[in-house]
Formats: sequence, structure tokens, C-alpha cells
Amino acid sequence: MANGDFETVVIGGGAAGIAAARRLHKAGVKCLIIEARSRLGGRAWTSAGPSGVGLDLGCGWLHSADRNPWVTIAQEQNRSIDKTPPPWRRGSLRLGFPEGGQQEFLEAQVQFSARVSERATREPDVAASTLLEPGNRWNNLINAVGTYISGTELDQVSALDFDNYDDTGVNWRVVEGYGTTIAACGENLPAVLSCPVSRIEHHDKRLKIETSQGVIVADQAIVTLPTTVLAENDALFAPSLPEKTAAAQGLPLGLADKLFLSLADAEEFETDSRMFGSIERTATAAYHFRPFGRPQIEAYFGGQLASELEAGDERAFFDFALSELTGLLGNAFAGRVKQIQIHRWGADPFSRGSYSYARPGRASCRMKLAAPIDSRLFFAGEACSQHDFSTAHGGWITGVAAADQAISARAQA
Ligand SMILES: Cc1cc2nc3c(=O)[nH]c(=O)nc-3n(C[C@H](O)[C@H](O)[C@H](O)COP(=O)(O)OP(=O)(O)OC[C@H]3O[C@@H](n4cnc5c(N)ncnc54)[C@H](O)[C@@H]3O)c2cc1C
Repeated sequence: MANGDFETVVIGGGAAGIAAARRLHKAGVKCLIIEARSRLGGRAWTSAGPSGVGLDLGCGWLHSADRNPWVTIAQEQNRSIDKTPPPWRRGSLRLGFPEGGQQEFLEAQVQFSARVSERATREPDVAASTLLEPGNRWNNLINAVGTYISGTELDQVSALDFDNYDDTGVNWRVVEGYGTTIAACGENLPAVLSCPVSRIEHHDKRLKIETSQGVIVADQAIVTLPTTVLAENDALFAPSLPEKTAAAQGLPLGLADKLFLSLADAEEFETDSRMFGSIERTATAAYHFRPFGRPQIEAYFGGQLASELEAGDERAFFDFALSELTGLLGNAFAGRVKQIQIHRWGADPFSRGSYSYARPGRASCRMKLAAPIDSRLFFAGEACSQHDFSTAHGGWITGVAAADQAISARAQA
């Protein structure tokens, strides 16, 4: 049974929830993480792959690594940080591109970003797709990259929010896994697992949190649930909080899924190199060859393509990858790859998507979602971050901020 009495409960044990609970615990606040899954980490999840190597099915890159708090945590845990620049910074494998095409594509991307930044300074906000240059031959590929970044096509995404994302351009990885690092950070914190929260009652002086394992009473709660969970469940809060439901609806989770393949005779390919399945289509995957030098391919699917493949059968992702890879590398390539693992984040009941984007005109929803209510309901999670949304470090930063708000509200009570 999870029933008990706490000063502050943290609902959701992903990057944000762990960061919040760690801060509260250090400050001596009697707290508890209430987590629906049977593990901590949420969308950060390293699963054991072949020969025990960790496969990050969720976050893998320590984005903005030179200011990412998880780097320090990973170092404290004595983990190995790999600083090889990511494939998207080093240019793709030439395969599939015509002569000079890579450079043209990079320039088209830079110009698109410049137009988005320029437009973001003016009202009203528009869909990012309106900033594509009409007729530019690289539009479909820019849109494909958009699906990896936002989990959806550019016509769904706020140009203002897209521009608000702050990236220092430094991207590292943890060899043992980003998910392993995040889950380990929560290991010694008070937590109850396999315990979905169904209702947060805030009529009375104290909060009543209904869970699958009983009722928990607390002075304060830090809610770190994914926006999908908040948007689809307006009965979660009693009384209901329509402004939070509306803010969450403005920040849906886009979809991105990773498929790990084993690769025979991998040495033929450069370590940490990348290939697009097609440079003509938006519905194409990006193939990261030999991540960490391993004999593997990490295939990345985003947006509509990922949704359609999730709706397909067990082999849908693998079959799609195989058709693109054999199209580029010849039919014999089919004999060199086997599926290792995939996780369908859209079908996962505790995420129902991968990371948040703002709909056009809804960039301000991030601030609205993050705003506390009555000095006792606090909100955190990647979607609450104005500049580091969609990332695990965004989760950390908002978790710590919400814990600080809760601690200072306690001091003033
Ligand atoms: C395929 C993929 C690739 C990614 N790549 C990167 C990357 O390279 N770098 C990066 O920084 N980020 C990446 N991300 C995003 C990153 O993983 C997330 O932004 C981050 O982990 C979100 O943390 P969070 O704490 O905000 O949310 P979550 O991790 O979703 O935490 C919320 C928690 O709430 C729990 N929960 C849900 N419902 C309930 C309920 N009813 N009751 C109790 N608990 C509940 C969930 O189980 C979860 O543990 C990727 C994500 C995916 C899916």
C-alpha cells in the first residue's frame, strides 16, 4: 500500500521528478515520488542490449552538454562520457546525396532557421512550415529533420517556440546510458513504483492523492506528468484546473521512436556516421551507423511516419528500415541487419508520445503550465521549460525550480 502522510509528493519519477525529489530530500523535506511504471526514469530508459551494452530507447544525447546538469551527475556516478560530435554536426554519409547536395542542404537549413528567428520577433506567431522557402528542393528533408527535433511536421509547430529552444551545440553521450544515469540518480530517494495517480484532490487544506495503491495525504505536490496525461484527463484535478488542461493541450507530445539493429561487417561504415533513408521525402528515417563504434544501426523515426508505423504490425519499423537501407545499399544488405529492440512511445500508456512541441500561437503555454497554484501545486517536466523543452536537462531544470518554489512556500507558510 502506498498510503501515508508526506510534506511534499512528487508525481512522476522521470528526469524532472527525480531532480525535484532529490532537491527536496536534501532540504530535509519529507517527500515521496509516486511513479506509475515499475521503474524510475520515464522517457529516459536504457535497456540491456546484446553483450550487456545499454541501449537508450529514450533520451541518448546530453544536449547543451557544457551546461547540462546531468553531466555532473554522470561524473559523480563515475560514468564514461563520450564526447564524439554527433552525426548531425559532422555531415551525413554522402550516399544518397548528389554532388554538392550536402552543402546545399546545410545552407538551406541555416537559411530556414534564420527566417524562423527573424519571424519569431514579430506577432502573430505562425507555423514553422510557413518559413520554408516555396519550391526549395530541400523542404521535405528539412521537414523530416523537423520531425526528429519536434516529433511532428513543421506545419504543426509554433515558429516562436521552435526558435525559443536554446542549444549550445555541444552534444555528448553516456556510454552506460543516459537512462541508466537518470534512474540511478533516483535510486536512494523515497519512491513508490507501479502506482499510477488517478486523482489529485485540492479542496481541503491538505491534498489527497488517489493512487492505485491507496490514498496519500500531503501538504504539497509537484506534478511532473507528461502533457498528454494532463491534456487527456481533465478529471485528474478536483476541482478541475481548466487552465492547466488548456496549457497541456497547447503542448502535445510529438512522436519519435528508435529502432536498434545489429549490423554484420560493420567496419565498412564510419563510426557515428549518419544516412537519411531518402533526401526527397519527409517520411524517412535517419540511420546512425555504429553508435559508440558498436556493430549496430540506430534508426530514428519521427512525426507522421512514426505514428503510421506504430499503427502497423510488430515488424513495421524493421520492414520500413530494411526497404530504405536496401534501396541505398543494395538487396544483399538485408542479410546483414537484424532487429534488436524498438519501443513505441506513442503506445506507451505513461508517455503517449516522446517530447513536447508548442502548437502555433501556443508558445506561452509553457509558462502557463509551469505556474504554481495556491503555493501547494507545483508543475515541472520538460514541457514546462521555455528554452530547454523536449530534453532531459529541461526536465532536471524545471524539477529543481519547482522544488525550490515548494521549499520557499513551506518557509513562508
Ligand atoms: C525516442 C526519444 C529520444 C529522445 N532523445 C533525447 C535526447 O537525445 N536528449 C534529451 O535530452 N532528451 C531526449 N528525449 C526526451 C527526454 O527523454 C524527455 O524530455 C525527458 O526524459 C522527460 O522527462 P520528464 O521528467 O519531463 O517526463 P517523463 O520522463 O515522462 O516523466 C514523467 C513520469 O510520470 C510517470 N507517469 C505517467 N502517468 C502517471 C500517473 N498517472 N501517475 C504517476 N506517474 C505517472 C511516467 O511513467 C514518467 O516516469 C528523447 C525522448 C524519446 C522518447
